[in-house]
Amino acid sequence: MSLGPDHEPSAWLRGMVADALRHAAHLAGLLGPDDVMVAPLTGRSTRSGSREDRCCDRCGTYVPEGPGFHLLVTQPTPWLLLCGGLCAACAALEVGA
Ligand SMILES: [Zn+2]
Repeated sequence: MSLGPDHEPSAWLRGMVADALRHAAHLAGLLGPDDVMVAPLTGRSTRSGSREDRCCDRCGTYVPEGPGFHLLVTQPTPWLLLCGGLCAACAALEVGA
Protein backbone atom coordinates (compact mmCIF):
# COMPACT_ATOMS: atom_id res chain seq x y z
CA MET A 1 0.00 0.00 0.00
CA SER A 2 1.80 3.08 -1.25
CA LEU A 3 0.14 6.28 -0.16
CA GLY A 4 0.29 8.91 -2.87
CA PRO A 5 0.19 12.69 -2.53
CA ASP A 6 -3.61 12.74 -2.74
CA HIS A 7 -4.03 10.42 0.25
CA GLU A 8 -5.51 12.04 3.35
CA PRO A 9 -3.62 10.35 6.20
CA SER A 10 -5.34 9.37 9.42
CA ALA A 11 -4.50 11.22 12.63
CA TRP A 12 -2.43 8.18 13.67
CA LEU A 13 -0.37 8.27 10.48
CA ARG A 14 0.08 12.05 10.65
CA GLY A 15 1.44 11.64 14.17
CA MET A 16 3.79 8.82 13.18
CA VAL A 17 5.12 10.80 10.21
CA ALA A 18 5.61 13.91 12.35
CA ASP A 19 7.58 11.88 14.90
CA ALA A 20 9.69 10.27 12.15
CA LEU A 21 10.44 13.64 10.57
CA ARG A 22 11.41 15.09 13.95
CA HIS A 23 13.78 12.17 14.61
CA ALA A 24 15.29 12.13 11.10
CA ALA A 25 15.61 15.88 10.53
CA HIS A 26 19.14 16.05 11.91
CA LEU A 27 20.24 13.47 9.29
CA ALA A 28 18.82 15.36 6.32
CA GLY A 29 21.94 17.56 6.13
CA LEU A 30 24.09 14.48 5.59
CA LEU A 31 22.23 13.50 2.44
CA GLY A 32 23.10 14.54 -1.08
CA PRO A 33 20.53 16.37 -3.20
CA ASP A 34 19.22 13.15 -4.77
CA ASP A 35 19.60 10.87 -1.75
CA VAL A 36 16.61 9.22 -0.11
CA MET A 37 16.71 7.81 3.40
CA VAL A 38 14.55 4.72 4.01
CA ALA A 39 13.39 4.34 7.60
CA PRO A 40 10.86 2.33 9.58
CA LEU A 41 7.68 4.26 10.29
CA THR A 42 7.86 3.36 13.96
CA GLY A 43 11.48 4.46 14.28
CA ARG A 44 12.55 0.99 15.36
CA SER A 45 13.83 -1.63 12.96
CA THR A 46 13.03 -5.29 13.32
CA ARG A 47 14.69 -8.39 11.96
CA SER A 48 13.05 -9.29 8.65
CA GLY A 49 10.69 -12.23 9.07
CA SER A 50 10.66 -12.02 12.86
CA ARG A 51 7.43 -12.09 14.84
CA GLU A 52 7.85 -8.39 15.65
CA ASP A 53 8.32 -7.67 11.94
CA ARG A 54 4.88 -9.21 11.29
CA CYS A 55 3.07 -7.09 13.91
CA CYS A 56 0.81 -4.22 12.90
CA ASP A 57 2.52 -0.88 13.49
CA ARG A 58 -0.80 0.65 14.54
CA CYS A 59 -2.45 -1.90 16.86
CA GLY A 60 0.33 -4.44 17.48
CA THR A 61 -1.67 -7.42 16.23
CA TYR A 62 0.52 -10.27 15.01
CA VAL A 63 -0.28 -11.29 11.41
CA PRO A 64 1.03 -14.72 10.38
CA GLU A 65 2.60 -15.28 6.97
CA GLY A 66 -0.03 -14.86 4.28
CA PRO A 67 -2.17 -12.21 2.69
CA GLY A 68 -3.34 -10.36 5.82
CA PHE A 69 -0.35 -8.05 6.26
CA HIS A 70 -0.25 -4.80 4.30
CA LEU A 71 3.00 -2.98 3.69
CA LEU A 72 2.72 0.75 4.09
CA VAL A 73 5.01 3.14 2.22
CA THR A 74 4.79 6.89 2.42
CA GLN A 75 7.21 9.63 1.37
CA PRO A 76 6.49 12.78 3.37
CA THR A 77 9.52 14.61 1.96
CA PRO A 78 11.70 13.98 -1.11
CA TRP A 79 14.51 12.75 1.16
CA LEU A 80 12.57 10.41 3.47
CA LEU A 81 10.73 7.18 2.66
CA LEU A 82 8.92 5.57 5.58
CA CYS A 83 7.94 1.90 5.56
CA GLY A 84 5.71 -0.03 7.90
CA GLY A 85 3.10 -2.74 8.08
CA LEU A 86 -0.56 -2.85 9.01
CA CYS A 87 -3.08 -5.60 9.75
CA ALA A 88 -6.09 -5.74 7.44
CA ALA A 89 -8.33 -3.82 9.84
CA CYS A 90 -5.86 -0.96 10.28
CA ALA A 91 -5.09 -0.88 6.56
CA ALA A 92 -8.81 -0.46 5.91
CA LEU A 93 -8.93 2.40 8.41
CA GLU A 94 -5.99 4.11 6.69
CA VAL A 95 -7.31 3.92 3.17
CA GLY A 96 -10.93 4.42 4.15
CA ALA A 97 -12.05 1.11 2.67
ZN1 LIG B 1 -3.68 -3.20 13.18
